[in-house]
Amino acid sequence: MKNIKNELSDNKIHDYLNPDYVYIPILDGYRIDVEENSKVYKEDILLTNKDDLHIYSPISGKVIGKTSSLLLKNKQVTCLVIENDFKESVRKNKGVVRYISDYSKSELIDLIKTYQASKVNLYNKATHLVINGIDKDAYEKTRSYLVNEYSDKILETVDAIINVLDIKDTLFAINNSDTNNVLNLSSHIGTYPNIKLKLMPDTYPIGFKTILLNNLYSSKQLDEGVIVLNVEDVYNIYTVLKRKKPILEKIITISGNSVENSMVVRTKIGTSLQDLITHTCKIGNDKYYVVVNGLISGLTLESLNSVITNDVRSIFLNTEDVQKEVACINCGLCNLKCPMHLNPKYIKEHSKADKSKCIKCGLCTYICPSRINFKPYLGGNDEE
Ligand code: SF4
Ligand code: SF4
Repeated sequence: MKNIKNELSDNKIHDYLNPDYVYIPILDGYRIDVEENSKVYKEDILLTNKDDLHIYSPISGKVIGKTSSLLLKNKQVTCLVIENDFKESVRKNKGVVRYISDYSKSELIDLIKTYQASKVNLYNKATHLVINGIDKDAYEKTRSYLVNEYSDKILETVDAIINVLDIKDTLFAINNSDTNNVLNLSSHIGTYPNIKLKLMPDTYPIGFKTILLNNLYSSKQLDEGVIVLNVEDVYNIYTVLKRKKPILEKIITISGNSVENSMVVRTKIGTSLQDLITHTCKIGNDKYYVVVNGLISGLTLESLNSVITNDVRSIFLNTEDVQKEVACINCGLCNLKCPMHLNPKYIKEHSKADKSKCIKCGLCTYICPSRINFKPYLGGNDEE
């Protein structure tokens, strides 16, 4: 995994918000609430499930019908197709709420649930709150750029959450090598005495929730209850509380050694991966493969015919690795470096071995000098 352009072209979030079509996966248990050929407004309800959770339209335009030519996590999925009229029309502008700290606990939790700003359970009676501003993958910059661009909104929202949920202790964790944000947050956090900045060492996989918590708290403190929100959750919560609008956009790192202009992009949920790449990337070498959600820990896609959903954080286009897997040389590195103290080589060779503690960080595959791919043999948690 050489020559990755970890440096991004600039420190702005770029926009690609006008795809010709969006593709909304019709997941199991959802019913379609719109007719073919009907007009939809941005924020209209498109799909609903039995728990009354809705999927909203990211654009205004016309419902074209369904397609099953796209993949979601390498599995075929039927999508509702909306053709963009590029008007961004909404039925009713709901205005902006002035003080987000005025919400009651149940109002706050209901809004977050209704508009699916975060999957985190805020009913949890927790003493501690952790804001995770550290990118999950070493080559992602999504969280870092969010903090850089929206630190004021993020701090305001965290302060409101602390007050509404009556949290005793809040840590805002960022990477100590994230220089812009260290300076930026250090100079603004004084206005928020309830939030403490915590600088964490730049060691992978510190952005994973389990590893971060083990570095921040003792097991006794963890037993008292900790809520962890990453900065994407906080930014989504800000949007939902301030504007009472669903989350329709996604901020994504696009990088890899085939991309000449690595960047962080804001795009509509439902954009096809092919459209996003075509309209944002200068490709240096078009013989690439695609990985989503982390170069080290992510999933290799079988096709660019995939769709951007709200759980996509990053996309990497990387040239094929010509070096092939060879026999294990018993160096012991995979066992030594596993942050969960597992023995990946043993797990690979013993199908009944306990792999429940694996956090799928991908470090064992990344560091193995024999290029052994452990990913198909590991289980465990897909943590946020
Ligand atoms: S087994 Fe591999 S993927 Fe799982 S936690 Fe250990 S290093 Fe990470
Ligand atoms: S890191 Fe690779 S070569 Fe080294 S012991 Fe583990 S599997 Fe074998």
